[in-house]
Amino acid sequence: TSFGFKEVREEEKSQMVGNVFSSVASNYDVMNDVMSAGLHRLWKDRLVEELNPFPGMKHLDVAGGTGDVAFRVLDSIKRRALRDAPEHYLQEETTIYVCDINPKMLDVGKKRASERGLGGDRSLIWVEGDAEALTFEDNSMDGYTIAFGIRNVTHIEKALAEAYRVLRRGGRFVCLELSHVETPVFKQLYDYYSFFVIPAVGEVVAGDRESYQYLVESIRRFPSQDIFASMIAEAGFQKVEYENLIGGVVAIHSGMKI
Ligand code: SAM
Repeated sequence: TSFGFKEVREEEKSQMVGNVFSSVASNYDVMNDVMSAGLHRLWKDRLVEELNPFPGMKHLDVAGGTGDVAFRVLDSIKRRALRDAPEHYLQEETTIYVCDINPKMLDVGKKRASERGLGGDRSLIWVEGDAEALTFEDNSMDGYTIAFGIRNVTHIEKALAEAYRVLRRGGRFVCLELSHVETPVFKQLYDYYSFFVIPAVGEVVAGDRESYQYLVESIRRFPSQDIFASMIAEAGFQKVEYENLIGGVVAIHSGMKI
């Protein structure tokens, strides 16, 4: 590429992703805040708003890592239950599965759950697993989210097919991912930030320049908003749409299984 990054062969990709997240797991949360200036929190809030979770739902958060999305889904359900019908909530068995390929990320997530007083919460279930080969049954989920995860899977189509398979009719797919900025001046600024600032900050804060260079490279390779939307439709989803946040730095894609 024009920036001199080496091409990553597909076979190497899964292993690299594993390495990246093992080395990153411990300072992962700090890095998220530093790199996005805290904005990833708002983006995740927006993702959950888009999902519109409800008491009693079975939800699957894939590439759920340290639980950021799952905690928000649970909070949102609890708030909604308190507002609408607290007595009803107690009867409903809400279940949120957090699925991640890296056990270290799940460990950090479990620890954070106990710190939040959710250690014994039966609604949260942590599952080690691959987005491309989920262990959940067909038509078993009301919702599926994936935040900053699909970019890392080796075959995006397989992950989408699995999302479609595990969702039941009426189930919602919502994906938050770093995407593409097209506005001219902003694009140049963003490219500068990506290619110079991110790897440098990665080196200083996490002591790991390579992982963050890989991050930037993986963003560049990820399909454009429109192409990704057509891939989601190709997997069978209907009502596919997307919303760009800050000019496409991130995008939220959604679809429904009908
Ligand atoms: N969703 C979390 C968030 O937004 O904070 C974590 C995002 S983190 C950038 C990407 C996560 O994807 C990592 O925890 C990594 O272990 C996981 N991951 C990578 N490939 C995966 C796969 N094939 N299946 C499931 N999880 C995967």
